[in-house]
Amino acid sequence: MEQSELGRRRALWALGAVTLATLVVGDAVRSSSRKPDAVPPARRRPAVHPPVALPPPGWTLSPLKARHQPVHSLRDLAPAAPGNAIALTIDDGPHPEWTPRMLDLLAEHDVRATFSLIGLQVRRYPRLADRIVRAGHQLCNHTMHHPIPFNRLPARRMRAEIVEAQGRIADATGVTAKFFRSPGGSWSRQVVHIADDHGMIPIDWDIDPRDWSRPGTRRIAQSMLACRPGAILLCHDGGGDRSETIKALRTVIPRLKHRGLSFVSL
Ligand SMILES: [Zn+2]
Repeated sequence: MEQSELGRRRALWALGAVTLATLVVGDAVRSSSRKPDAVPPARRRPAVHPPVALPPPGWTLSPLKARHQPVHSLRDLAPAAPGNAIALTIDDGPHPEWTPRMLDLLAEHDVRATFSLIGLQVRRYPRLADRIVRAGHQLCNHTMHHPIPFNRLPARRMRAEIVEAQGRIADATGVTAKFFRSPGGSWSRQVVHIADDHGMIPIDWDIDPRDWSRPGTRRIAQSMLACRPGAILLCHDGGGDRSETIKALRTVIPRLKHRGLSFVSL
């Protein structure tokens, strides 16, 4: 994201308080927020995985702040996070070609990340979504159909997009996503309110290499290498040819680790 755009968004958020419901994370949210007829009963199955990617000891989530604006940095989300922590977030999958490559790369470097899943893709490739969880990565709800601009949708449609994706993710993985990322970073107070209503913390980013536009491996790497401790980095494993992203990360991950930065999932 452009810095000026980031500043503009933050200023927008400073304009007004948001009335938000109590943050409840867990199965209660899942059961209350799902359409009863979203998935035939035969396809449902109980949660079989333990909660994934628990915060490290001493890490205290601060959801209160996240109720008022999306989180741009680990500093906002977790003041007690290790000072050298950064978070890699990977959006728009699962994709049959790029997600396995991404998972292999992350495993090779022993990195845990956070995958923002599109419900439609989860419906098409449920086993890939499950593989992400089994590899120890965190999940984030990225709506059912990735409509843009998301913040212009009627509230009812926003809610349906979030709830349906949450159901698909839970059906495929047994996991209730505790984070939400709006498509294209398109936020509003209403978007944050609805995400909170469904027990999810809204997550934005502060490093955007615009890898979706295929600017070249070198530019993607340069952008990501400019990150500082506490950064939330954005990249993609869906939405098109992601070979540049994968190639850039092959360089970026070891170099950031060499600088003493530590990858954490949200
Ligand atoms: Zn996206």
